[in-house]
Amino acid sequence: MSAHHTAGRYLTPQGWRRGVIHIEDGRIAVLDGAPAPTAIDGEWTILPGFIDLHVHGGGGADVMDGGDAFTTIARTHARYGTTSLLTTTMTAPREEIEAVLAAIGRHAAAPRPTGSARVLGVHLEGPYINPQKLGAQPDFATTAALEDLERQCAMAPIRVVTIAPEIAGHLDVVRFLSARGIRAQVGHSVGTYEDGVRALEHGASGFTHLFNAMTGLHHRTPGITGAAFAHADYCELIPDLVHVHPGAIRAALRAIPHLYCVSDSTAATGMPDGHYHLGRHRVTKSLGCVRLADGTLAGSTLTLDQALRNLVHMGLSVEDASRRLSTYPADYLGIADRGRIAVGAWADLVALDADLNVVAVHIEGESL
Ligand SMILES: [Zn+2]
Repeated sequence: MSAHHTAGRYLTPQGWRRGVIHIEDGRIAVLDGAPAPTAIDGEWTILPGFIDLHVHGGGGADVMDGGDAFTTIARTHARYGTTSLLTTTMTAPREEIEAVLAAIGRHAAAPRPTGSARVLGVHLEGPYINPQKLGAQPDFATTAALEDLERQCAMAPIRVVTIAPEIAGHLDVVRFLSARGIRAQVGHSVGTYEDGVRALEHGASGFTHLFNAMTGLHHRTPGITGAAFAHADYCELIPDLVHVHPGAIRAALRAIPHLYCVSDSTAATGMPDGHYHLGRHRVTKSLGCVRLADGTLAGSTLTLDQALRNLVHMGLSVEDASRRLSTYPADYLGIADRGRIAVGAWADLVALDADLNVVAVHIEGESL
């Protein structure tokens, strides 16, 4: 049906090529072109669209609003090159979370609204976290019950669950989730190193915003952060350069092979300074940060194009940064046809100028 193309210097799993990407019915049909190790002035750099596994909001809308919020959020992030994402819930009373899950389930089952990133499912961030490590999560943390999770999994495609493994019963929950192919991620935790290792042994496969809202790495008490450094294969991190110091990011890059980037972005993303809400919390955006009244960081205003520029500014190659923004998050979820420019994959593409500013975006072949 619909066939078109885009051209420039594009990154494939085998390296850079220069030429034409032919798109048919939303997927990459043919890759024409020759190897192109070096860039030419003025040409577009085309990367796989960014995949953000931790999104609370954008464009003034918050996931917990339900209704049209998902479309507003997905359109806002699409403008910055994010072509698929996980809507991420906040800790809240059970009925509130389940109302949002039902709404996401309906949204995910409906056709993708024009101009919006693909919603791949849900990242459930809370309520199964430690009340002593809420970060900016409202105070509704609770112990997970398998019958609740059974019901919640039927409401929406839950792909990731953040969980504190030190809470009694939660290792069984980790096992339950991993048996269903849902990624259990250690986070919002006051657990020890041993708690982190046990979680991995029970099937946990990642860590939620490494360093933030978890026990830190001390050489005699290595904490959850130490467990991630010593054992994690995949792990998420917020590279806004506010949540984590660049030195700590460099250390993590040396330790964790498939460290990938998330925004943890809130309603204030893509919006002017001012007051917003994050779940039940009122938050303030100022100086590029979102904080609670007491100064606690409350998510970010990061978009993944800025994450790319931050990583490259830190010294990563564009190729390495791109893998951490697209390929690794897709691989982590077991999605083979996104996160890479390859024949048969969805035509999720972001084109950038020489300063890595977004100039064009394709989502499943749709040109924004
Ligand atoms: Zn979050």
